Amino acid sequence: MLVPGMRELRDLTFAELQALVVELGGKPFRAEQIFRWAHMHRARSLDELQNVPRPLREALATRVRLSALTVDLVQTSKDGTRKLRLLTHDGHAIESVLIPSTDKMAQCISSQVGCALDCDFCATAKLGFVRNLATWEIVDQVYRAQELLAEVEPGRRITNLVYMGMGEPLHNYAQVIRSIELLTDHRGANLAERRITVSTAGLVTALEKLGNEELNPNIAISLNATTDAVRDVIMPVNRKWNLERLLAAVRAYPLERRRRVTFEYVLLAGVNDSVEDAARLARLLSGLRCKVNVIPWNPHEGSHYRRPSPEAIDRFQAAVKRHGLPTYLRRPRGDDIDAACGQLAGKAKAPPGLVQLGRSPAAG
Ligand code: SAH
Repeated sequence: MLVPGMRELRDLTFAELQALVVELGGKPFRAEQIFRWAHMHRARSLDELQNVPRPLREALATRVRLSALTVDLVQTSKDGTRKLRLLTHDGHAIESVLIPSTDKMAQCISSQVGCALDCDFCATAKLGFVRNLATWEIVDQVYRAQELLAEVEPGRRITNLVYMGMGEPLHNYAQVIRSIELLTDHRGANLAERRITVSTAGLVTALEKLGNEELNPNIAISLNATTDAVRDVIMPVNRKWNLERLLAAVRAYPLERRRRVTFEYVLLAGVNDSVEDAARLARLLSGLRCKVNVIPWNPHEGSHYRRPSPEAIDRFQAAVKRHGLPTYLRRPRGDDIDAACGQLAGKAKAPPGLVQLGRSPAAG
C-alpha cells in the first residue's frame, strides 16, 4: 500500500535525514547511525536497522520506506565484465555493468528507464523514454553490485563510477546530483568525486548548471560527429544545441586543475570515420584540456550502422593522434553479453508478476 507523503529513506540527503530524525524525537547521532546502515551497510529494509531503538524505528516507518532493487540476472563476460539486470518495483528492467581492470573496478550505472534523446545508433534509444530513476534507484545499483562483488570477488570494491548506462543523466538532473552527493558521503559509499564521471549527449543548459554545483564530478561529452550535418542526423539533440554551442559550453566549464574533459566518439563506418573527420575533430577540440575515447560502434539488433574495419579504426585513431589529441581506443567490454556501450536495452523486460520475486513496494 502506498502511503501518501511516504518517502524513500535513500532519497534523502544526510541533512534531510537528520532533520527528520530530530523531528521524530531522536537524537541527532541516530541519523548518522541510520545513514550508515542505509548507505554503507546497504540495508534493504528498515527492519535491518537493529541497533536503532524500536520507538524511533517505528516512528521512522510512518514517514519513510527503505527499499531495494532486485537483481534478477547477472551475466559474466569472457573478459570478466559483469552485467546486472535489476528490477524496479514497477516492473522495469534496468542495467548496470561492472568493468574490472587491474587497478580499478568501474561501474557503469543507469539514470533513466529508456531515454528520450533518440540517438540513432544506440540501443537504449529504441526503448523510448519510460521514466526517470529515483535517487535511491540510482544509488542502489551501486550497493547491489557491491554486494554481488562481496560474494564473487571478496575484497574488491567499486572504485569508479560512470553515468554511462541507460538514459541521459542530465535529463534527470536533480536525482543524479543527489545520488552523487549520497555516493560521495563519507558516512556511506565514500566514493571520490574525481572518480565519478557524468556523461552527456550535450544538454547545454544543464551542463552550465552542473558547472556551478559544489559537487565536482568529471564530465564526458558524447560528441560522435564533427559536422552539424552528420550530428543532426545521428544525435537529434544537436538540432537544439549544435556543435558550436556545445563546445562553447565545454570551453566555459570550470574544470578543476589537472582534470580533463572526456569526449566519446562512437566510430560508425562511412559516417564519421574518415581522416577528414579526424582533422576536424582536432580543430574543434584545439586548446581544450581533453582526451578522446574512440568507441568502435557496438552492434545491436535492427540497426543499419556498421562497425568500421580494424584498418579503418587504426587509420582514424592514427590521424587523431597525428593532430596531437590524446586518444584511447575503447575495446568493447562485455560485448558477448550485450553489456558494451550502446547495447543496454533492458532486454527481456520483466513479465508481469516477476516483480513479485522482489520486495513489494509496501514491504520496506
Ligand atoms: N546519454 C549519455 C549517457 C549514455 S553514455 C550520453 O550520451 O553521454 C553511452 C555512450 O555510449 C555514449 O557515449 C554513446 O555515444 C555511446 N554509444 C551509444 N550507442 C553505442 C553503440 N551502439 N556502440 C558504441 N557506443 C555507443
